[in-house]
Amino acid sequence: QSEAIVENLKQAIVDNSMEKEIQVVRTGCFGFCEKGPIVKIIPDNTFYVQVKPADAGEIISEHLVKGRKVERLLYMDPETKEHVSDSKHMGFYKKQIRIALRNCGFINPENIDEYIARDGYAALGKVLTDMTPEEAIEIVKDSGLRGRGGGGFPTGLKWEITSKVHGDEKYVVCNADEGDPGAFMDRSILEGDPHSVLEAMAICAYCIGGDKGLIYIRAEYPLAIERLKIAIGQARDLGVLGENIFGTGFNFDVELRYGAGAFVCGEETSLIHSMEGLRGEPTVKPPFPSVSGYKGKPTNVNNVETFANIPAIINNGAQWFSSIGTEKSKGTKVFALAGKINNVGLIEVPMGITLREVIFDIGGGIKDGKKFKSVQTGGPSGGCLTEKHLDVPIDYDNLIVSGSMMGSGGMIVMDEDDCMVSVAKFYLDFTVEESCGKCAPCRIGNKRLYEILDKITKGKGTEEDLDILRNLSNVIKDTSLCGLGQTSPNPVLSTLDNFGHEYLAHIKDGK
Ligand code: SF4
Repeated sequence: QSEAIVENLKQAIVDNSMEKEIQVVRTGCFGFCEKGPIVKIIPDNTFYVQVKPADAGEIISEHLVKGRKVERLLYMDPETKEHVSDSKHMGFYKKQIRIALRNCGFINPENIDEYIARDGYAALGKVLTDMTPEEAIEIVKDSGLRGRGGGGFPTGLKWEITSKVHGDEKYVVCNADEGDPGAFMDRSILEGDPHSVLEAMAICAYCIGGDKGLIYIRAEYPLAIERLKIAIGQARDLGVLGENIFGTGFNFDVELRYGAGAFVCGEETSLIHSMEGLRGEPTVKPPFPSVSGYKGKPTNVNNVETFANIPAIINNGAQWFSSIGTEKSKGTKVFALAGKINNVGLIEVPMGITLREVIFDIGGGIKDGKKFKSVQTGGPSGGCLTEKHLDVPIDYDNLIVSGSMMGSGGMIVMDEDDCMVSVAKFYLDFTVEESCGKCAPCRIGNKRLYEILDKITKGKGTEEDLDILRNLSNVIKDTSLCGLGQTSPNPVLSTLDNFGHEYLAHIKDGK
């Protein structure tokens, strides 16, 4: 549909002989998926929502030729029932702070000049010409940035560790193997702002003493792959990738590696094995990839969102970044808001915002006026939180204390009609499917958990099953080899804790 809108806008521009005055620019995602396709008119910032191809002619002839906004395409504020034309005044955007997503929806991701116009590659220039690797690492450390892929490990510390390991070759790897159901944070960044990731990888390479970068991306992301390829080509042509960057003698280049969509390949040792052409199975750590990673060489792995923050941190300073967020979780986090929520979309919020603000202020509340029941954060291995958690400030530590986790940023909202036992079963089904099978607790234990949940949802469970579920979950958590198994029982445990009555109702009612 967006393609047809672009074509019709271009035709309308020709029909109105405005080729010299009006340009149509394709951008990345605006985040407000619920109201897409979106057309933004610049410079007056008018934001048209749910545009159809047939609306294109009117946008050009009315708004751009006659200066009259097309009212029916403006966003309608659900409370005031008034049209809002500037996205800054929409509930969906008001509480957001966009750092990783700063360029998504603002630039044409296929044009390096537009990235440069928004300070693109300035951070790389600054680091290469004004800083030692140690000084740049210090900025990343001071910023407090933690890995956005789920682990939350301090990024600057990881870089420092890799920088101190001796190696004739070192690698920078970008983990773009986003696999959580309902999550599309990394895809949107790569589709909307691929240069920010390339720039950050080059900065990382300089800091750790490497000259090769690899992006491991799932093959199911064709548009992100296409835009990355274009961005790599343009960056090479401009000399910000390749040899002797900015005339400093620093060399760095990036290649793509494709994943086949296995969830476990998001785990860094599996990812590295997959890139080496081996089975995507995790191995015991240590050694960590920082010491022995790709081809046995020191390798720094960060995910897409983590990298996307780096140029902004270098340009604006560690203090600027660390002034946003909570004591132990600095900056912002991108979440993919999905489920029974009015404003489905991609959001970036300061750490410390509450779930209530995210779900009701940004997300616009629950669909069809239904009652909120639960929100699942942390992807398939996260926990299901309830009303009592709505005012907890979101950060790495608080989510764990509440029985869930940050994960990579999936956030799925459930309403009063959702059966939480079925929700737990859905996630276990996913885990069983995605377990690599290397270790017994995960391979066999999760299958047994799934079977018990299936029995309960069919009304054939017993109260004893609840004890088995809990005990087996704890064994799987304690004895699995990698993060997938160690966290896979979280949906079971959190629903047992928070919605135990729903399990009992299935058992009692026999259905
Ligand atoms: Fe494989 Fe699961 Fe064991 Fe991880 S925990 S190694 S995914 S079987």
